[in-house]
Amino acid sequence: MSRYPDAFIREIPKTDLHVHLDGSLRLSSLIEMAEKGGVGLPSYTEEGLRELVFKESYADLPEYLGGFAYTCAVLRDLENLERAAYELAMDNIEEGVCYIEPRFAPQLLMDNRELTMDRVLVAVDNGLRRAKAEYNARPEVGERGLPPFDYGIIVCAMRMFGASGYSPYYDAFFGLHRDSAPAEVIKMAAVEVARGVVRIRDRLGVPIVGFDIAGQEAGHPAGQFREAFDYVHENFMHKTVHAGEAYGAESIFQAITDLHADRLGHGYFLFDVGKVADPGIDDKREYVERLANFIADRRVTIEVCLTSNLQTNPTLRDLRRHSLGRMLEHRLSTTLCTDNRLVSNTTVSKEIRLAVENFDIGPKALKNMIVYGFKRSFYPGPYAEKRNYVRRLITRYEAVARKYGIEAESE
Ligand SMILES: [Zn+2]
Repeated sequence: MSRYPDAFIREIPKTDLHVHLDGSLRLSSLIEMAEKGGVGLPSYTEEGLRELVFKESYADLPEYLGGFAYTCAVLRDLENLERAAYELAMDNIEEGVCYIEPRFAPQLLMDNRELTMDRVLVAVDNGLRRAKAEYNARPEVGERGLPPFDYGIIVCAMRMFGASGYSPYYDAFFGLHRDSAPAEVIKMAAVEVARGVVRIRDRLGVPIVGFDIAGQEAGHPAGQFREAFDYVHENFMHKTVHAGEAYGAESIFQAITDLHADRLGHGYFLFDVGKVADPGIDDKREYVERLANFIADRRVTIEVCLTSNLQTNPTLRDLRRHSLGRMLEHRLSTTLCTDNRLVSNTTVSKEIRLAVENFDIGPKALKNMIVYGFKRSFYPGPYAEKRNYVRRLITRYEAVARKYGIEAESE
């Protein structure tokens, strides 16, 4: 019997700061949307799709990413986007997650006609806002009751896309820039989306709170995206960067220096000496130690996605060997996230359960991890308001912990 009962994990207020909208659809909705829109799927039953596409485990990252072709195909539709965003918020609310930062790459879902970046982002915001309004109006939510639900949107640029098959928008973008090298075209698309998100936030009031780059890390160094990140940085937008998912410490260093990352997506290979490639670094062990301490001291928060890492790193096998243990030993700021609720077949509660069952996480450490999710969020309101919100969530956490006799004495 675990020291943390399921009911306790269900009741504590939780966050998900790393969740891809296009990887988190309800399977039943994906099938319905595909049938309605004439999108081809390898199976039209949930069991069939679980067997063929959204599996329990994957051979490698490319296989893991295979399902996104289907989810993105159905999401190139404003009504479906609104619905997917609404359902994502509701699924989180149902398991006691009261703050989320869904992310996605609009350029994967755009075409050059009615699916503009403005409309795509407004549709997602409408779905999230509808869920928030519905939930926050429930009688049990409010001043003296359950904490209200809130969200901010994170927009991703893609680290990599090719000349065809990624999306109608990218196909056209590549087609129009035939005299530029592929790396140059990718960089231009990232700058374009960076300008768009600042404008859409400022002019349309869509709560876009962060900017990210997603997609294949290998061969696409962070430095390539400096201009896009400089632009959002100058416009006071937060940054998180997928780094250390496939590459190691140097990619993480680039993310926090070149791209001003406030948080890191995964950071999985942070301590992996074998992933340090620069021949100029003599003592690789010392390099990763110093980097880890640097990150810890600056409170750069790592968005840890256990199931996803297990699924895309076939060599990991045993979760106890995951770098979360070392992150905790180094007192890094970490928060548990799902990455993809559908593709990884997980929930925030499952991720917490996995963490406490595979690592030595006492009540104080668990409370810290949950609280970092709120503290290091890119909350859309003013800082003073954020502090009140965080304070309220901590009070709620403490009340639930008391109820279950799981009190965090000082360690
Ligand atoms: Zn991710």
